[in-house]
Amino acid sequence: MQETDFSCLQCGHCCQALGSELSATAEDVALWEEHGRDDILAWVDEVAPGIYDLWIHPRTGEDVRRCPWLRKLPGQEKFICCIQDMKPEVCRNYPVSKKHAEETGCKGL
Ligand code: SF4
Ligand code: SF4
Repeated sequence: MQETDFSCLQCGHCCQALGSELSATAEDVALWEEHGRDDILAWVDEVAPGIYDLWIHPRTGEDVRRCPWLRKLPGQEKFICCIQDMKPEVCRNYPVSKKHAEETGCKGL
């Protein structure tokens, strides 16, 4: 998001609530393949050619709400992404606007 007044609070809300609504781009998948990230790819389901659903539990096939890459910082109410340098485009761009933040419960504005 371009708004300069946005500051992520690391509350983890987005990563705990929106996991089942996420999708990956072909570029995301290509990056994970290039880096041999089979651990990430295991949670991706190609539902149609070039259409990738996230995050799908590799054993149950269930769409999970809480992202498997979210970690709570010890002793703090803060969360980090443990695939920060590889996270999908949808996460890098979240929230896309103030309206999007409001609609999805992000308090970073
Ligand atoms: S909901 Fe907003 S403030 Fe909280 S972690 Fe996500 S982007 Fe950051
Ligand atoms: S990949 Fe990272 S930023 Fe995206 S939902 Fe998971 S923990 Fe959050």
